[in-house]
Amino acid sequence: MQVLVISDIHGNLTALDTVLADAGEHDAVWCLGDLVGYGPDPNECIERVRALPDLTCLVGNHDKAAIGEIDISAFNVDARQAINWTGHALSPAGRDYLLGLPERVEHGPYTLVHASPRQPVWEYILDRHIAAQNFNYFNTPYCLVGHTHLPILYIQTDGVVLDRRPNYDELLALGDERMIINPGSVGQPRDSNPDAAYALLDTDTQCWEFRRVPYDIAETQQRMAGHGLPPRLIARLEKGW
Ligand code: ZN
Repeated sequence: MQVLVISDIHGNLTALDTVLADAGEHDAVWCLGDLVGYGPDPNECIERVRALPDLTCLVGNHDKAAIGEIDISAFNVDARQAINWTGHALSPAGRDYLLGLPERVEHGPYTLVHASPRQPVWEYILDRHIAAQNFNYFNTPYCLVGHTHLPILYIQTDGVVLDRRPNYDELLALGDERMIINPGSVGQPRDSNPDAAYALLDTDTQCWEFRRVPYDIAETQQRMAGHGLPPRLIARLEKGW
């Protein structure tokens, strides 16, 4: 089965549509949360994702924040403003959809969460040490996460955890070692590369492929400006931070 793995769309429909066009044929879609927040198209992104084939979609912290399920006082000023805008913009159907999303799902050898297996909505796996602790919180060989918007792979091998940046030209055979894998963010990449990030997973051959695709950032920025979203959030898209 060919699985399209996407995460952190953040209401950026132009990036999402570009990824869907670039990804080609797939049998299933695993979406690791944060459909909304930051971007100008929350309802459109929810509608688009809901219509994807054999979809598994998890809830992210911004999804919960937009529907008032978590306290947003820990969010920075810009994120708070965007969440408040998103909360008002959400349709009743969009709100209901976000409300029903799970925090954790297992598909065969894969555990799926938004943030980390230890704290599925909140914790940022930003280094090998945090990753090492998190290997104790899932039972499957592999765990797929989003949340940091940084594509990366953590490998547990002989009791130590190594990290590996994506090589976009290679098909990676997942093999026997346990891994935590982050496909990066569709709608707000933060690794200094503004191109939309996603991944393809072949569950028959257990091969993973990190991918990037440029999209029309100016188009998204125009809609953000039209809605009066914070200038810093608009500017960061073209820099990839
Ligand atoms: Zn996010």
